[in-house]
Amino acid sequence: MLGGLPDASNARGVSSPLSSRDRSIGVPRVSRARKADYRAVMDPEFTRLEDYRVRRMNMRVECGNCGHAGVLDGEKLWRWFVLHRWKSSLDQIGDHMRCSVCQRRPTGFTPTSDPPTRDFGPSDELGWKAVVRRLRAG
Ligand SMILES: [Zn+2]
Repeated sequence: MLGGLPDASNARGVSSPLSSRDRSIGVPRVSRARKADYRAVMDPEFTRLEDYRVRRMNMRVECGNCGHAGVLDGEKLWRWFVLHRWKSSLDQIGDHMRCSVCQRRPTGFTPTSDPPTRDFGPSDELGWKAVVRRLRAG
């Protein structure tokens, strides 16, 4: 419906290139565009890692500092956080992540069906068991 708005750049843009044109467009269309922008930043249906696991979605993680972005396996991410007993709400998961380029905390988390671009953690069940053992020992 809102043709010509590429998803990726949309999620990154805090200042929308549309804003200067907003006033000349009809009011209903403007508010609809704003709502779409907001959903791209924080989707109300994806506020915890559980939401990613249940819906079988991966997570696009974006660094607000340098703009680097990657896709992580949603279910794996959920499992990793559960094992570590970390809080899994999206406003807190950034505390346990770092941008691989600039080392800052990532700030953007959005659901995607794209395949993971970056692997992390154990690659098989043996690896997961080793993590559990290590965490129990510590
Ligand atoms: Zn970065």
